[in-house]
Amino acid sequence: MVNLLDFDVDGLTAWFAQQGEKPFRARQVARWIHRFGVDDFEQMTDVAKSLRSKLVEQAEIRGPLPVRDSIATDGTRKWLLGVDGEAGNAIETVFIPETNRGTLCISSQVGCALECSFCSTGKQGFNRNLTTAEIIGQLWHANRMLGAVKQPGVGDSGERVISNVVMMGMGEPLANFDNVTAALRLMLDDNAYGLSRRRVTVSTAGLVPAIDRLRESVPVALAVSLHAATDALRDELVPINRKYPLRELMAACRRYLESAPRDFITFEYVLLAGINDSDADAHALLALTRKIPCKFNLIPFNPFPGSDYRRPAAERVRLFQEILINADVVATVRKTRGGDIDAACGQLAGQVRDRSSRQTVQALQGQSVKFEVRREATSTSLEVHA
Ligand code: SAH
Repeated sequence: MVNLLDFDVDGLTAWFAQQGEKPFRARQVARWIHRFGVDDFEQMTDVAKSLRSKLVEQAEIRGPLPVRDSIATDGTRKWLLGVDGEAGNAIETVFIPETNRGTLCISSQVGCALECSFCSTGKQGFNRNLTTAEIIGQLWHANRMLGAVKQPGVGDSGERVISNVVMMGMGEPLANFDNVTAALRLMLDDNAYGLSRRRVTVSTAGLVPAIDRLRESVPVALAVSLHAATDALRDELVPINRKYPLRELMAACRRYLESAPRDFITFEYVLLAGINDSDADAHALLALTRKIPCKFNLIPFNPFPGSDYRRPAAERVRLFQEILINADVVATVRKTRGGDIDAACGQLAGQVRDRSSRQTVQALQGQSVKFEVRREATSTSLEVHA
């Protein structure tokens, strides 16, 4: 059985060609799957009956397995999704509603291999890359759960409940390049989700060669997790810096801007009390990024069990931000959303069966989630945290 969620529209067209079917059939089926959120071939009423029967025999539309659905007091909603059947791994996807937009934060890997010192996902170890179906399946599932699928026969008004996607969940998206870019193409494709390139963001810890490849294959908005203005500190916080130091990373950012859909890079900067939050740190950051059109997104550290870092006082965050703003750089402080359901940045844990050699860390954290699967999607428990 092939899972049709695994194909971008070109892939679907190629698979249909193998079955002796015309390309427009692939586009038609892509619309049913992604735009209308259908998982049953029999509902595809404008697809010939003979083709529907063939599809039922050879293919399926299998999204991730809903395990838990939680809603925070601020409306942030988090799904725990099983990706290896009942006994295996689970990932997290977060929907963040705001006044003028809805943002879905998507995971790209089960765990993460980069071991950034302040990140909960990084502490859990790494199991595997997500498939294209598992990546796009998060958007497909969220749309269905939010009642945001389109109705057949109704024109596309351009309105989207999920207007923005950020690849900022569990994992390093650029370390799972092929599957992530196939999913990105589906997000942008008018026969699928039709999102604007400017509203789809890949966030990376700084995999320099992959930043260049992204620019060549699917240029979308880019966020870079900077977190330090010197190699000495960044080597410690973001160990991939030892391989791709700041000078190379800054050069890759400049190259990216040549074909990026937005004319700036977003630099994420986690603020860790006493580590990278001084006035001198802010000035060093300005000096480092002087030649790059950019915006800063400051993220006051979100604590998780077993972490030693502290979040700076609000006044320190404000002063740090002020130094950047006074230098005419746009700097926002990321609001903590969904804190009461552990849905904030760096708190996504899912369930990772670590295959690197770091299991002990996870055990120490006591973070593993009880894995209860209700059999039908409809009976998924909805935990409301008031
Ligand atoms: N691996 C990618 C995607 C993760 S995005 C990347 O590194 O960019 C998640 C963002 O949250 C990153 O900027 C990450 O550094 C940040 N983050 C991780 N742990 C955090 C924590 N405990 N508090 C605040 N931000 C955190």
